[in-house]
Amino acid sequence: MSFNRFDSKPRVNPNKGKTPPLELKTQVQYVKGVGPALGEILAKNGIRTVKDLIEIFPRTYEDRRSGVKIKDLKLDQLVSMKAQLIKVQSIPLGRTSRKIYDITLQDSSGQIHCKFFRVPYKGYFDRFKPFQDIRVVGKVIDYRGRLEFHHPDLRDQDEVIPVYVEMEGISSFKWQKLIRFALSEVMKNTDNLSYDPLPKSVREKAQLTGYFNAIKSVHYPDKNKYSEYLELRSPAHRRLIFEEFFLLETFLFSKKLGLQKENSPPYKSFGELKKKVIGSLPFQLTNGQLNAIADIEADFVKGHPMHRLIQGDVGCGKTLVAFVAAVMMKENNYQSCIMVPTEILAEQHYKNAINYLAGHGLTIALLTGKTKASERRDLFERLANGQIDLLIGTHALLEDDVVFKSLSLVVIDEQHRFGVNQRAKLKAKGASPHFLVMTATPIPRTLSMTVFGDLDVTLIKELPPGRTPIQTRAVFQNKMSQALDFMKQQVEKGRQGYIVFPLVEESEKIDLKNATAEFERLKTEFPKIRWALLHGKMKPTEKEETMNAFKNKEFDILVSTTVIEVGVDVPNANIMVIEHAERFGLSQLHQLRGRVGRGEHKSFCILVMGYAVNEESKERVSFMRGYAADVLTADPKLEKSDNAFIKQHLQTKKHADLG
Ligand code: ADP
Ligand code: MG
Repeated sequence: MSFNRFDSKPRVNPNKGKTPPLELKTQVQYVKGVGPALGEILAKNGIRTVKDLIEIFPRTYEDRRSGVKIKDLKLDQLVSMKAQLIKVQSIPLGRTSRKIYDITLQDSSGQIHCKFFRVPYKGYFDRFKPFQDIRVVGKVIDYRGRLEFHHPDLRDQDEVIPVYVEMEGISSFKWQKLIRFALSEVMKNTDNLSYDPLPKSVREKAQLTGYFNAIKSVHYPDKNKYSEYLELRSPAHRRLIFEEFFLLETFLFSKKLGLQKENSPPYKSFGELKKKVIGSLPFQLTNGQLNAIADIEADFVKGHPMHRLIQGDVGCGKTLVAFVAAVMMKENNYQSCIMVPTEILAEQHYKNAINYLAGHGLTIALLTGKTKASERRDLFERLANGQIDLLIGTHALLEDDVVFKSLSLVVIDEQHRFGVNQRAKLKAKGASPHFLVMTATPIPRTLSMTVFGDLDVTLIKELPPGRTPIQTRAVFQNKMSQALDFMKQQVEKGRQGYIVFPLVEESEKIDLKNATAEFERLKTEFPKIRWALLHGKMKPTEKEETMNAFKNKEFDILVSTTVIEVGVDVPNANIMVIEHAERFGLSQLHQLRGRVGRGEHKSFCILVMGYAVNEESKERVSFMRGYAADVLTADPKLEKSDNAFIKQHLQTKKHADLG
C-alpha cells in the first residue's frame, strides 16, 4: 500500500510535504487543500480536527476491477478505469530540456492518450512496462478536438476503493484524497503513532489491531479481501466497531454512576391508593404488568431517579403500568406526565385515565395542539400550583409554558418517535424526575443502550387473557389473491379487516393513488364486500366519520394508507393485509399489526412482499421473514414451504420489484 499517491495532481516530490507535521488534534484548516470554505463546511459537520477527518469511515467499498470502456468516455467525466498501457513517449519541448509525456492507453473498445506536461516525480514512468494493465483515475478533457486525460493518476493495479458519503459538494473521491493526505501526513510523525484510545490490555484480550493500523486499512482496503470490507467485517472494522462500543459503554457506565449521585425524595408509601386502584379495575392485571409495577416500585425506593424501559407487545397493557406508577407518585403528592406521539393516542389515554383513576382522587388533564388558548391558561395555572396530578399530552408538553409544581415522573409512550433532546427537555421540567419509557418495538439490549442511554429494561411477555397471538405470515406478491380470498372468508364469517399500503417514495400523492386505485379495483372484483377508503388527504372529520362507520360495521374492509395509526380500536376487525411490507420499518409493522387482535376472534396479519431485487430489499425481506417467524405460532409445515419459496425467489432474482 502506498501512501504518496493520494493526489492526482503532479508534485515535485510528494515525500517532501510543504505543510508542517500534522497531529491528530491539529485543526483541519491546516491540512493542505482545505481552504476556508471547505474548512467551514467541515466544521459545520462536526469535523474539526485531523482526527475527526481520518475517522470519517467509508460508507461502503466499490470493486472497480470491472468498469467503463474507453469508447464510452464522455467529456468532463471523472473516471477510474482499467486499461492497457501501450507506450510511453517523451516529446522534447523545443530547445528546452523539458519534455511532454504522452501515454497511450487502450482497451477492447479503443484508445486514449494521457498527457503529462511535467513529470510527477523522477522515475514516475519507469514503473510501467508496455502492455501492462493499469488503472487510470482522472477527468476526461477535450484537447484540440479529442478526448484525453491530462495528469491523471496512473496506478499499477486494479483496486477496491472506499466510498464516502458525499456531503455539500465534497465527492467521495475528494474525501478519499483529503483523508488519505491527512493520514499520510499525520503518520509521518512517528510520535503520533503511539496513540490508541483502547488500552493495550483490552486490545490484547480482544485480539484487536492498533488504532492507526485500523484507520489505515479502512481507507486503503485490501483488494483481496473485498467481501470482508464490503460487509464491514475486516479486522480493521472489527477493531473500530469494538472501540465505539467500548467507549460508549464506559461513557454510559460513568453516566449511570452520575445518575446514582442524583437524589429523589424519600416516599411515605405506595400502599393503600395503589391497592385500591388495582382492585377497582374491571380486569386483573397480568403477571407481566404486576412485575413491571414491582420493578418500578423498587426503583422508586432506591433514592435515585429511575431510568427504565418497558417493552411489551401492542396490547399487553403498558398504559395501565404507567397509570399505576402515576398513582404511586400521587400518593406522595408528586405530579406525573405521560407524553405520547399522536393526538388520538393522547385522547385515548386521557379517557382511560379518567375512567380508571379519577374516582380515586387523581386530577387528570389533557394537553395537545388542539387545546384552546383559554383552556391552556387555566391548565397551566393549575399545573403550576400542583392541582393537576397527571398531565397527558403530545409534544405540546414540551412548551415552555408547561411548568409543574413538583414533577416527579416522566413517562414517554411509544418513545422511539421522540428524540433525545425532547426527552431531555421534558425531564428538565422536574428536579431529577423518574423516567419511564414504553415501547412495543423489540429493541436489542445494546441498541437500546445506544439509542436511549442506559436504561434498565422490563419485558412484559404476556398478553391479557383471552387474546391469542396474531398469526403472522410473510408471503410474496403472487399470493395476494389467496390473501384476498382468505379475507373474504373472514368477512363472510362476519369479521372485518384492513388492507394497508405503504408510503411510496415518501410521496403521499402516489401513496394515495395506489390505495385509491386498489380500492376501485377491489370494489369491482368483490362487489359483495362493503369497502371503505381512508387516507391522509381526508379532512379529520371525514376520517373520523369513516372510522366510526367502520366501527359500527357499516363497512367490511378498510383500504387505507398508513393513516390508521395507534389508537384505532375495532375489536371485530381480525385480519390485516399489509402490502409491500418490506417497505415498512419494524416498529411501524408492529403498530399497524396491533390494530387487529383486539377482540375475542383469532386474528391474522399477512405481510405481502414485493420480490427482492437489490441488496437492501433482500435484506429487508429476510428480516421480515425473521419477524414473521418470531411471532409465528402457526403450522411449521407452512413455514417450511414459505421458506423454500422465498429462497427460490431470492436465488433466481429474476423478478422485478412489483412496486
Ligand atoms: P399497550 O401495551 O399496547 O399500550 P394498552 O395499555 O393500550 O396496551 O392496553 C390495551 C388494551 O388492553 C386496553 O384496552 C386496556 O384497557 C386493556 N388491558 C390492559 N390490561 C389488561 C388486563 N390485565 N386484562 C384485560 N385487559 C387489559
Ligand atoms: Mg400503548
